[in-house]
Amino acid sequence: MSARIMIVEDESELAALVAEYVQAAGWTAQVFADGAEALAALRGEAPDLLVLDLMLPSLDGLSVCRAVRAFSQLPIIMVTARVEEIDRLLGLETGADDYLCKPFSPRELVARIKALLRRAGYRAPALVVDEDGQRVLAHGADLNLTPTEFALLAAMTRRPGQVFSRASLLDLAAQDNLDVADRAVDSHIKNLRRKLAAAFPGDEPIASVYGLGYRLDV
Ligand code: CA
Repeated sequence: MSARIMIVEDESELAALVAEYVQAAGWTAQVFADGAEALAALRGEAPDLLVLDLMLPSLDGLSVCRAVRAFSQLPIIMVTARVEEIDRLLGLETGADDYLCKPFSPRELVARIKALLRRAGYRAPALVVDEDGQRVLAHGADLNLTPTEFALLAAMTRRPGQVFSRASLLDLAAQDNLDVADRAVDSHIKNLRRKLAAAFPGDEPIASVYGLGYRLDV
């Protein structure tokens, strides 16, 4: 299961950008623009990590952070608009695990999230298909698939455990406007297996089913 990241940010463009990067990293993103609403949601089903802006409508980030710490130890990254503020916050024992100053690069934020999730003992999900980014992540790392390999693996991950014949895999690739010859399916599968083997040493996620085709076991 993919890590759920809650983003509390009232600048809607920044929130959307952060959400995009979070999703591209293989996590799910939930966005709140209001501190009190975010806190209410946190009291319900807690996410795996919280990215919390300091200046928020209705309830500021500091109050949200302190309120959350009364009932949860989930990792929190506090975002501030001024670098001087970080020193002040560090002295306040806010309960946040990390601080980031605006403007920050979304890549930097993703790296911080990764580090905190790792520290919290969260393991990146085995396989994440990022349809928007046209890529597949294995334990959080990009498999660097070709468009055809992506189309084939994405189709198989939609129905794990199902046997796909070469013909049906050809159809699926054709739906993505990819021109794949019958025998070429085997060579694409071979390349996919090689890339998966590097990510899952000792495992064989794509099984051959004699006389029928292929099956993804994850
Ligand atoms: Ca703000």
